[in-house]
Amino acid sequence: MAFIVQKFGGTSVASTERIRNVARRVAKWCAAGHQVVVVPSAMSGETNRLIGLARELQEEPDPRELDVVASTGEQVTVGLLSMALMAQGVKARSYTGWQVKVLTDSAFTKARILGIDEQRLREDLAAGIVPVVAGFQGIDAHGNLTTLGRGGSDTSAVALAAALKADECLIFTDVDGVYTTDPRIVPEARRLATITFEEMLEMASLGSKVLQIRSVEFAGKYRVRLRVLSSLTDPDLPVAVEAQSGTLITFEEDEQMEQAVISGIAFARDEAKLTVTGVPDRPGIAYAILGPVGDANIDVDMIIQNASVDGLTDFSFTVPRGDYSRALQILENVKSHIGARAILGDNRICKVSMVGVGMRTHAGIASRMFRTLSEEGINIQMISTSEIKISAVVDEKYLELAVRVLHKAFDLEQGAA
Ligand code: ADP
Ligand code: ASP
Ligand code: MG
Repeated sequence: MAFIVQKFGGTSVASTERIRNVARRVAKWCAAGHQVVVVPSAMSGETNRLIGLARELQEEPDPRELDVVASTGEQVTVGLLSMALMAQGVKARSYTGWQVKVLTDSAFTKARILGIDEQRLREDLAAGIVPVVAGFQGIDAHGNLTTLGRGGSDTSAVALAAALKADECLIFTDVDGVYTTDPRIVPEARRLATITFEEMLEMASLGSKVLQIRSVEFAGKYRVRLRVLSSLTDPDLPVAVEAQSGTLITFEEDEQMEQAVISGIAFARDEAKLTVTGVPDRPGIAYAILGPVGDANIDVDMIIQNASVDGLTDFSFTVPRGDYSRALQILENVKSHIGARAILGDNRICKVSMVGVGMRTHAGIASRMFRTLSEEGINIQMISTSEIKISAVVDEKYLELAVRVLHKAFDLEQGAA
């Protein structure tokens, strides 16, 4: 007998028919003698709909109230799924985040989980009841409802698996695993049987939305065995087959197989670039520019400072696109203070990144990437590298082309050697 946390994403619970299939799948695991905790997301499109309603009433919805509204999507699915399980003859009980309770900080719309009281869930499991716990939500120390950021049900599931010391956390979704890149962009993308935590962390942080980045962080920190697999296969697929399907996120040291140099390509559309031109090249200038941006809680990603000419330099950096106009305004405010010539901005850029632990031991990946992009006439505006990734900022209009040509150039396709 194993103890498994199973998370089902929005597409997997998009209709009562799909919810019934999820219940069949869960019932199958229970019948095979496993203990299961289920974590569903809201029905697909529901969280967007709820946020849309909020925006109709307030241009920038109040974050506390937005969480009250956005968290209702998951309350519906836990109730419905529990009913579907009961209809299958499985004892089940639904829980909201606050009923559990999933304690978070008070950062509305992007709260972090601080702890989980697993007592009631353990009691249910001991009594043969399947707890169905709402993903994406928690409660802060003052009793306010919170949500964990978009895609946050992944993190709820992994955090529950960590708190309950589950044997494995299964993330059921609308693809049958983690691919070399988003299969919606490159249909020839190949499913990976395994990927290391480190690579998955990079892929998620560089834009692959298949897993929320915090879920991967949690899994790495608490050594949760994590697998991504399809919820759209035959629900009666034998448990032994299903248990081995999809993509297993592994710890590198456990990895037996020979590693490919590049495991995958990630991309992020929601980026923007700001450039401050003609600033004096003196100590403190980076702080003078980026300090106020950081004070406004805006995350800065890539940073480039050009060589100075006649004591003046240009300074560029990227921010999330949602923070673009705020960042531009901040720079306009400090422009005269720092003695800049001009503030330029571009919110039609994207970031394309190649990820692979094999980069540590193989040289020449960056130059091959740059050559491939240049052969397509794609101009690289910014570059950043780490031990296991290379990112390039390019014009947004080249995003799909860049991902496709890199995928081909690095032989990541199905059937490639
Ligand atoms: P869920 O609602 O189940 O949480 P998501 O939409 O959040 O599902 O995540 C699954 C989607 O992630 C897939 O449909 C796919 O388009 C996208 N995706 C992005 N990058 C990848 C990748 N490297 N491998 C697999 N899927 C990816
Ligand atoms: N329903 C939430 C969202 O759409 C959480 C999730 O799906 O993981 O972001
Ligand atoms: Mg998701």
